[in-house]
Parts: sequence; C-alpha cells; structure tokens
Amino acid sequence: MNLYTIDTGLFKLDGGAMFGVVPKAIWNKTNPADEHNLCTLAMRCLLVEDDNRLILIDTGIGNKLGDKLSALMHLQGDDSLNKSLAKHGFSSDDITDVFLTHLHLDHVGGAVTKNGDQLAPAYKNATYWTNQKHWEWATVAPNEREKASFLKENLMPLQESGQLKFVDLPDGGHFSTNMRVRFVSGHTESMMLPLLQYNGKKVFYVADLIPTVGHLPIAYVAAYDVFPLKAMQEKKAFLREALENNYILYFEHDVINECCTLQDTEKGIRAKNVFKLTDI
Ligand SMILES: [Zn+2]
Repeated sequence: MNLYTIDTGLFKLDGGAMFGVVPKAIWNKTNPADEHNLCTLAMRCLLVEDDNRLILIDTGIGNKLGDKLSALMHLQGDDSLNKSLAKHGFSSDDITDVFLTHLHLDHVGGAVTKNGDQLAPAYKNATYWTNQKHWEWATVAPNEREKASFLKENLMPLQESGQLKFVDLPDGGHFSTNMRVRFVSGHTESMMLPLLQYNGKKVFYVADLIPTVGHLPIAYVAAYDVFPLKAMQEKKAFLREALENNYILYFEHDVINECCTLQDTEKGIRAKNVFKLTDI
C-alpha cells in the first residue's frame, strides 16, 4: 500500500462563502483573504496504490474551463494532474480506478479531457466511481444552488464511455483491501470519504466535510453546503471518532496544511500536529 500526494493547482473562492455565518474578523486569521475577499485553496488529490490497483481520488478542476470561468475561479500554480502523476513515476494509462468523492467541478473537472470538440475520459484504462444517489442528485434535475458546479461536460462523457460505475457499499465497506468508504450528505447528497489503512495509521480523506484546518470548529461550515445543520452534525460525530481512533486527516483544499492529527481543547477538537503525507 502506497499513498502519493497529487497536487493539481490552486484556485480562489469568496472567503465569506467558504465560512458561512462566521465573521471575517475570525476566519481571516486562519484563512487570510486577498484584497477581493478571496481565499486561496488547493485541489490536492490522492493516489492510492493498493494491491494491483492504482486509485486516483478526485481529479481537481482540469484544464478545459473556458477563459471566463478560469478567470472567475482564479486558477493558478504550475501543478497539474499528469505532471504530479509523472513526478511519482506514473502515467495516466496506469490509473485503474478514479474515485470521485462527489461531482462538484473542482473535484471532477480533471476526469474528462477535451480534444478539439471531443470530450473523453482522461483515464482510458480506468473505471470511474460515483454512487447512484449522488449521480442522480447531480444529473436528474440538479438543484439551483449546485447546478453551476455539476457541469454536463464533466459528467456525461463518463456515462457515455461505459467506464462509469456506482459504488454499492454499506457505510464503512471496503472499496479495496486498505480503503474503506464513508458517506456524508451535509455538503451534498452522498459524498464519499475514503478511509485508508496506511503504515499502521488511519488516514481520512476529508474532502469537503472539512476543507481546511480553519474549518475544524463545528459551526465553521461553508455556505456552499446544502444541508448545513447536517454537515455540522456529521463533522461533530466524525471528529469525535477521529480523535478516539487517532485518525490522520488529509486535506484536499488547505493550501498550507496537508495532514493533521487532532487533540481535545477547551474550545473543542482542534489540530495537534500538522505535517506532510510523506512524514507518516
Ligand atoms: Zn464540493
């Protein structure tokens, strides 16, 4: 079992939207905004080598956004999926599975490439994984809040290729030998979070349940979350479980902190040590 960090670049989002009802005077200390009130976020994917499978978890935003949307998302940085794969000695043809935590554009954009007018899965040998509930949520009459993030160009080519499958597991079921899947629905319907057994530790890929270390306090949920009270409940239960079982959290969107352990403080559960995946 090996894990590799896959950086795919940075983007910016409105800081207020990232922190919901939390005042800027507070969130700005952990996630400083620029002069336009935007916070820089990472799109940090994870590559899992487990038995004979090479599983890519999430794909970043990809490189087929038009100029207008690219400018709106403030894409920056030199990292890309394929460059990061190459850094670890892999190519796109080596990927056997692409595991999509959910189908928002900053997680699934790299799953499909554009060649001229042709859209096709970026990983020709891979099975792409979502789940039926989330797929239907994203594609059958998506709600007005999330619609702009469920881009057809990222989704339909996966289905049309025949490479798309639905994860059909109970909560905590094994996706591969050392990877189990947890389901949460506060951020969006049936988001999937991988829990990995690695070097005697448990590493949790927290995706948009806890986008950055600054989102550890229970009430700090993004305005993007479709069911914020549910997101808070899920985060609370999860953080308790993580503390009791010494999970390491792996952050997809935190531009500075890649991983952390947790500790109980008088204010609640907070980060203890922050470190890189390679330090585990
Ligand atoms: Zn999301």
